[in-house]
Amino acid sequence: MAVKEGDEVVPRLNKVIKAARSARVPVIFTRDWHPADHISFRAQGGIWPPHCVQGTPGAAFHPSLEVPAGATIISKGDDPGAEAYSGFQGTDLAQRLSAMRVSEVIIGGLTTDYCVKQSALDALQAGFKVNVMEDCVRAVDVKPGDGARAISAIRKAGAKIIDSSIAVKQMASTQQ
Ligand code: ZN
Repeated sequence: MAVKEGDEVVPRLNKVIKAARSARVPVIFTRDWHPADHISFRAQGGIWPPHCVQGTPGAAFHPSLEVPAGATIISKGDDPGAEAYSGFQGTDLAQRLSAMRVSEVIIGGLTTDYCVKQSALDALQAGFKVNVMEDCVRAVDVKPGDGARAISAIRKAGAKIIDSSIAVKQMASTQQ
């Protein structure tokens, strides 16, 4: 499923991934991983065209995104009957982060008004400090302004809205 200017976030995310790996900060990838008859698809009464169907090219990460070998990948939305915008919904992401003694998360990706927003809100709910890299997210904007409204909702809920250059600097300063 195409997101306008969605590919612009990839080189920025790659810089953050690289800085995180140098600083030994865990990098976790989340993805939609839908069965062909997922409830969010129009044929089942949902609002989306079919997307991210398990095992198809549509479910692959962007070819330029640098996903390290052995990276932690969280698949969500694999229950045919349940929508899962958030990486925390129906997954063990919160437990995994806690097991890694992670207390703060930095989020980037697609899309601002759905998966990024819900993941950020769930991360706050789960007690994490949350940062969203505004230059590393893009919105679907089903209704014009949805992306901007999502950013303000995320901020109001208690997350920090940052630029990825800040995240890269922070990680460089924690490097040993
Ligand atoms: Zn989906």
